[in-house]
Amino acid sequence: LFNTFPREEERFEPIEEGVVRMYTCGQTVYDDVHVGNARTYVYWDTLRRYLEWKGFQVFHVQNITDVGHLTDDADQGEDKVEAAAREQGLEPMALVERQLERYYRDMEELNVERHYVEPRATCHVPEMIGTVQDILDNGYGYVREGNVYFDVFEFDEDYGYADMANMDLDEIEARPRVEEDPLKRNQADFALWLEAPEEHIMQWDSQWSVGYPGWHLECTAMSQKYLGDTIDIHGGGKDHIFPHHPNERAQAVAATGQEFANYWLHAGFLTVEGEKMSKSEGNFYTAREVVEEFSGEALRMYYLSTHYRKDTDFSFEEMENAEAKLERVRNFLASVEDTDGGSETYPEGEIEGLKAEFEDAMDDDLNTPRALQSVMRFIKEANKSLDNDPEVLRKAAEIVRELCGVLGLELGRKEEVDGRVVDLLLRQRERLRDEGRFEEADEIRDELSELGIEVQDTDEGFCWIKKN
Ligand code: AMP
Ligand code: ZN
Repeated sequence: LFNTFPREEERFEPIEEGVVRMYTCGQTVYDDVHVGNARTYVYWDTLRRYLEWKGFQVFHVQNITDVGHLTDDADQGEDKVEAAAREQGLEPMALVERQLERYYRDMEELNVERHYVEPRATCHVPEMIGTVQDILDNGYGYVREGNVYFDVFEFDEDYGYADMANMDLDEIEARPRVEEDPLKRNQADFALWLEAPEEHIMQWDSQWSVGYPGWHLECTAMSQKYLGDTIDIHGGGKDHIFPHHPNERAQAVAATGQEFANYWLHAGFLTVEGEKMSKSEGNFYTAREVVEEFSGEALRMYYLSTHYRKDTDFSFEEMENAEAKLERVRNFLASVEDTDGGSETYPEGEIEGLKAEFEDAMDDDLNTPRALQSVMRFIKEANKSLDNDPEVLRKAAEIVRELCGVLGLELGRKEEVDGRVVDLLLRQRERLRDEGRFEEADEIRDELSELGIEVQDTDEGFCWIKKN
């Protein structure tokens, strides 16, 4: 994995054998997920799936920011949730609820699985206050009126601060700011806790003031709460290389004296005409609109066709290519199912070869485009042998399904089956059985089984469950 801190490719070694603890920065839920955000989430979901396939037990936490993310990264501006809620005449939490629901639907379309914990910032303010107190107790913070700030210079001397961003403190101190904060010792310091103006809708009581937490704090406090002081992997988009991740790390290390994360992964940007796609610039496509025009699976295929660290300009043409690629995989699987097979033997060694190539690519800093190329090349070869031994071809189809599954491409397997239709079919099956037409009845059972429905006959009649 390429570790941004210290900017090197490193062999991954977890802290605890066989277990991976991973935290990735999640969505600020004030607007729909854009295709840039979604791209980053798909990569982390793929990393988790791959690590699990390799046999690790993965605890993956991704937060939901529902308070504290200001419109300006330098502790200035308004809370993004609050600003959007006011614009729409909504209670902030009503906006959050609506956006969360939309976020989950988008993630489902993209087959991004629910995370081990999806902690919301508003539910962890006591933990955040605890972290701030620890930082103060250890001498890395200071209180000014109702605000608490992190003393970056003090921390830098002991632990190094912005190495991840390859920046030195003077450079950070000299960065242009909308407004100087006269309460800060140094302008490079950042807020841990801010006193809330009276009209501020979200506020909590604390030992310093009625206020709200700085944005960076939630990730530190929630990662430590659910995954422990030091985790294996921490991920986010590359915009977090500064200031968010150095600040998260500084808070964590200042609070506990322990390193925060061993591997820092940063995903590249999805751009529009060369510019970073962002809500504040208004130059974005929502994941939803792209999924509606194509499909969640095509969008996922599009993302995975580029390496996670590479910036890419979003392109509808590439979306079409991704869709065509998916079609080739589906067609291959369908032809294998249809083929009766011939007499030649499909080279079974190819299957092991594909697996090795796939793993080699994925082990190389999660090189999904190379892994996909291997799968596509394999399909091209296997297509030439469709009249071969059906048993071996079936194995070829199985490995394609398995590896695509590791990438989160389910290829139609996950379609929801309507329970009412299952009931209807099973009543029909009962009728066939009553008439002694057992072969036809079994056919229904077998076809349901292929759709992931297992029928069980008991003394009291039948029942069915969704497999797995
Ligand atoms: P936000 O909701 O702005 O906090 O962003 C959520 C996640 O999406 C973070 O990990 C960001 O780094 C990531 N992100 C934001 N914009 C982009 C983009 N244009 N391309 C890729 N990832 C992005
Ligand atoms: Zn974060």
